Amino acid sequence: MNELYLKQQEKRESNARSYPRRIPIAIEEAEGIYVKDADGRKFIDCLAGAGTLALGHNHPVVIDAIEKVLHDKRPLHTLDLTTPVKEEFVSEVFDSLPEEFAKRAKIQFCGPTGGDAIEAAIKLVKTATGRRSILSFQGGYHGATHGTMALSGNLGPKQNVQGLMPDVHFMPYPYAYRCPFGMGGDDTHKISAKYIENLLYDPESGILPPAAMILEVVQGEGGSIPAPVEWLREIRRITKERNIPLIIDEVQTGIGRTGELFAFQHAGIIPDVVVLSKAIGGSLPLSVVIYDRELDKWAPGAHIGTFRGNQMAMAAGTATLKYIKENNLSQHAKELGEKLMLELTILQNEISEIGDVRGRGLMVGAEIVNPKIPSGQKGTFAANPELASRIQKECFKRGLILEVGGRYGSVIRFLPPLIITEEQLDDVIAIFTDAVRAALK
Ligand code: PMP
Repeated sequence: MNELYLKQQEKRESNARSYPRRIPIAIEEAEGIYVKDADGRKFIDCLAGAGTLALGHNHPVVIDAIEKVLHDKRPLHTLDLTTPVKEEFVSEVFDSLPEEFAKRAKIQFCGPTGGDAIEAAIKLVKTATGRRSILSFQGGYHGATHGTMALSGNLGPKQNVQGLMPDVHFMPYPYAYRCPFGMGGDDTHKISAKYIENLLYDPESGILPPAAMILEVVQGEGGSIPAPVEWLREIRRITKERNIPLIIDEVQTGIGRTGELFAFQHAGIIPDVVVLSKAIGGSLPLSVVIYDRELDKWAPGAHIGTFRGNQMAMAAGTATLKYIKENNLSQHAKELGEKLMLELTILQNEISEIGDVRGRGLMVGAEIVNPKIPSGQKGTFAANPELASRIQKECFKRGLILEVGGRYGSVIRFLPPLIITEEQLDDVIAIFTDAVRAALK
């Protein structure tokens, strides 16, 4: 059956489809961290809707929340009109934010996707500042619309689409394994911050005051690259001094994945704008922008859109957020993430094709390299996307679904649901180890 579904998909769906090319599966059933294909084969899902499924598939609290909306005959669609379900969701979100931010915050509901909310955030800061340019980061990912694509570093899909949003300037992200300055280690983030500071303070640099800086605290699609907290604090200091609104894209990192409810909390900083999607909808489509009320210079109706209030998504999101907090899943993600990175580092000591292991919480990456080809930076090697792809295939054969990402398609990404148990994580590590060995044969 699986083959049949895949054949039909290939025949009828757009050539732009992405995941099915690497993960050839028709999912018929799903529960927790597991999915079952149309032939009854069981897989561990460490892709989890690209980091969306914080509580895994069909968690009982999510299902109950959705059923309650239906049972109570709540409206399913209300544009941006308010409802008791929405009120509860907003209260839960505001209660989850650091108090210092919550008391100054406003929320804008956006279309169903993360990209929608990033677009809204850019409109917001441009309106508030009257400025036009945006500072973004090399290797960052913010979506696939015209605006968000322009903000993303990934050149592949970008070069075939002309006329993207102009005035985006890319800054060096503190990616220590592939340091943009060829240095590595602590020097990467120190030089990155210095470089940015210099550009913004030097009247001869040609950089006009930007409308905002946007960044991910851990670059997700860019290859699970965590930014050091010292760098984040420096970036917050510099943007504050230069009066540049700081947008933190928490679409993938948000609500517990990195070991804190919000990834910016690792650095103890308060952003001006936070963008949430993926997990916040509890498996259903939802996105929001939360921002300092000083930026609320929007005229009534300045940001509209039909689907800005999926009631089932809000109910599922409230239930997810409550469950994460009540069960301290952030701490669980932190502990299991550390265990995963430790085990991968042990494997790295034995297998030189694993060039780097990194991450924060349950957002972990293993960068696959060719140890025979040194790169320009001491102690690092050329990206090896072919081997990464083979490892992904070997994992799939053994019942483990993983994403491959990163700038060069050479990073194996672990994004399991936050409810994964230690024993289940042991299974993931065992399958991965076996798959790496098989791929190297
Ligand atoms: N920002 C980040 C950090 C993301 O990881 C993603 C999706 N992977 C997006 C924005 C875009 O979200 P969507 O695909 O829902 O538009």
